[in-house]
Amino acid sequence: MPLHFNKVEFIRSAVKREDFLRDGLPQMAFAGRSNVGKSSVINRLVNRKNFARVGASPGKTSQINCFRIDGRAYLVDLPGYGYAKVSKAERDRWGRLMESYFASGLITLGVMIVDARHRPTADDVTMANWFYDTKCPVAVVANKLDKLKKSEIEPNLARIRETLGLREEDALVPFSAERGDGREELIALLQKMAGEEL
Ligand code: GDP
Repeated sequence: MPLHFNKVEFIRSAVKREDFLRDGLPQMAFAGRSNVGKSSVINRLVNRKNFARVGASPGKTSQINCFRIDGRAYLVDLPGYGYAKVSKAERDRWGRLMESYFASGLITLGVMIVDARHRPTADDVTMANWFYDTKCPVAVVANKLDKLKKSEIEPNLARIRETLGLREEDALVPFSAERGDGREELIALLQKMAGEEL
């Protein structure tokens, strides 16, 4: 049965481990550097303009926003990383929250958003390794595809795959939140990767 991403409800913002959802539904955890377009990708997936808030804002970087999709799975919007204007106290809060979520065993599938134009950053590589440590499969979304020339697409995708050390079971999807490229492919893939639990 297809997972209808446009049937989406906001459930809660988690700021500590007691807030995590533990009802057994699969959890698709979305991560990405601030400004990479994570909110835009989520909005495109759920077909809403302003569901996930676009634009980094200090103070929102240490909460995990949980949405339920089609009553059958969670889309977990992890706080963005690499935002320069964040205080040390807030970075520490971010670290503690992320560590407890990654240690919770709740992640079914990791979705990492990277910029299709650039080599993934050291922070992106760290994030990918956090996902690998959970043993869950990872789907990497190469966003802002609309900014690339056709001839740049294949070499850039190869560089992303290599820099992040993607494994056999992982997937890489070229995407443009702005134009909508990749939406159907990503939905089909997430559904397949979340697999039997759906
Ligand atoms: P977040 O901080 O990762 O949630 O990123 P946002 O969704 O707030 O997007 C950051 C900026 O990138 C905004 O100005 C978006 O309009 C822009 N953006 C997001 N996705 C795309 C895309 O696919 N193509 C282009 N050209 N711009 C995008």
